[in-house]
Amino acid sequence: METLEYRTLCLTCLRPSKACFCACINPFDTNFAFRILMHPKEARKGHLGTGRLTNFALNNCQIIIGEDFDHNQEVQELLNSPNIFPMILYPGEESINLSSSKLETQSFENKTPLVFIIDGSWPCAKSMMRESKSLHSLPRISFDSTIESRFLIKHQPAKYCLSTIESTYILLGLLEQQGLENIGAAKDSMIKALDQLVKFHIKCASDPSMKHYDRKGGAYKDPSERKPSKKWEYREICFDEKNYSRQRI
Ligand SMILES: [Zn+2]
Repeated sequence: METLEYRTLCLTCLRPSKACFCACINPFDTNFAFRILMHPKEARKGHLGTGRLTNFALNNCQIIIGEDFDHNQEVQELLNSPNIFPMILYPGEESINLSSSKLETQSFENKTPLVFIIDGSWPCAKSMMRESKSLHSLPRISFDSTIESRFLIKHQPAKYCLSTIESTYILLGLLEQQGLENIGAAKDSMIKALDQLVKFHIKCASDPSMKHYDRKGGAYKDPSERKPSKKWEYREICFDEKNYSRQRI
């Protein structure tokens, strides 16, 4: 008699239990609050995303799913709260580069600093920023990405594009260097979980006996063998209001 195989799902990362790496992570407290603005596409095919793992690592974090946050009540409440100092992690010419500049905390007054982190592919992130005008006036923070992404299974438009969990990890490190956070080694579990996740997917994709694994293209190519994406040679990866005109849609 045929036996039915049921897959149990981890309710934290929404991955099958076998592919769940939440156990690698030790959630930790932070002085800053975080909100992950997750694109609905990312929310649907979350098994390859790192937003939920990031959310799990940070005790003071929540995921808000959407595309146009001008009409999102939760986001609008945070933007208008007298107790919150909101910022957004997103590159741009006007952004405060934390790799080279100090974050001026006087402007926080007694408010809780809160960082919005966009979680979606780079084109999705760009459209989320474009559509959400209320996010345009927020102080932007960014950093110099000097490392290449360890998230080898995702093809990024440029070498410096990092996954959500890597970006958050680097941000936390920079905030620590500036004396604004004190997390220590606990945050390294984020990278450990990412490495395990990548290892798992590479193994599954190259194992022909894993017929349930939905990797259509077969085994993952070594990133050095991949051709750089042509379209990103002429398209802007990030949204910047002053470089943007409606005609370009
Ligand atoms: Zn999990």
